[in-house]
Amino acid sequence: MDKINLKGLNAEDTAIILQKYDIPSFRAKQLFQWIYRKNIADFDLMTNLSKELRLLLKERFCIENIAIEKKSVSIDGTIKYLFNLPDNGKIESVLLPPLSVNRLEESAADDEPLNRLTICVSTQVGCPLGCEFCATGYMKYKRNLSVFEIVDQILQVQKDSGKEITNVVFMGMGEPLLNYNNLIKAIDILCHVEGLKISNKHITVSTSGIIPEIIKIADEHKKFKLAVSLHSLDEDIRSKIMPINNKYKLTELIESVRYYYRKTKLKITFEYILFDGLNDREEDIRKIIKLSRSMPCKFNIIRFHESEIFSLDLKGSPRFKEFVDRLRNEKVTVMVRNSSGEDIAAACGQLAVKSNG
Ligand code: SF4
Repeated sequence: MDKINLKGLNAEDTAIILQKYDIPSFRAKQLFQWIYRKNIADFDLMTNLSKELRLLLKERFCIENIAIEKKSVSIDGTIKYLFNLPDNGKIESVLLPPLSVNRLEESAADDEPLNRLTICVSTQVGCPLGCEFCATGYMKYKRNLSVFEIVDQILQVQKDSGKEITNVVFMGMGEPLLNYNNLIKAIDILCHVEGLKISNKHITVSTSGIIPEIIKIADEHKKFKLAVSLHSLDEDIRSKIMPINNKYKLTELIESVRYYYRKTKLKITFEYILFDGLNDREEDIRKIIKLSRSMPCKFNIIRFHESEIFSLDLKGSPRFKEFVDRLRNEKVTVMVRNSSGEDIAAACGQLAVKSNG
């Protein structure tokens, strides 16, 4: 009989499964704390459980781990982890240094502590959406990650670094909202007081614009932060660089974001990689100003990381500072996301592995 992997079950499911073996709910709670709060994956180390119970657990259950295959450290302190999954699929996660210049600025703006430690995690092996500026989009898409594989990225990095992660951004490989159910279950574990106890205000989910799921998040009143990869406010240009725009049009996407704000009262973040001649023109500035005056939002302006694998001839904008200054002069809330980990291909849009199992 296959053993059941307890890692990846939320508190309720852990209690329900253990109940089938007449294990009382307070034991389920202890087990949940051992796995997520204390990050222990060996039943023998769970000292407040009786010997008999540990024996039963070992017979019927397991606590799996994903394996760190490689670790690359950037000169700026960013660490990129390559993980090997149980089926030999590969994913990457990135641990961001606590005090990079832009996040200093953002921390001050958000009134958050400056000692936060952020991890960028993956939700799929590869990505089916093929954005032109993203290395992950050029990989073969394989599958969604399980809840266990999502949560374990954080647990393994915490164990390896010896530090407690305070912030999680779902901006790694894959489109998180195409793996909605597992994403929500994973966030439930991350935020649970007996789990990793991360505030939902410190969790950001970034989407390329999967409208039905944005509506769902709004209707279900999920309280994590939502970021939308916008990159252009021109329907045709956005379709050219983000094929998903052919399915979920920009105009409808903006409407769904307005709906999200009406329901949640949470300010949306728009991500905007700045490309030369494509989205850094005067008319683009005007469109951003118009949008930002029509709804509470902020813009994350991101430098483009060029790569020879990209099929379109995309170039980073030489007008970066001027563009940001123009928006700030017009009172648009603008954050500049820096290029943490660029030297180890860990920056925005650079995550990709050669073979994904
Ligand atoms: Fe997928 Fe996001 Fe990359 Fe687009 S930017 S290909 S949605 S991982």
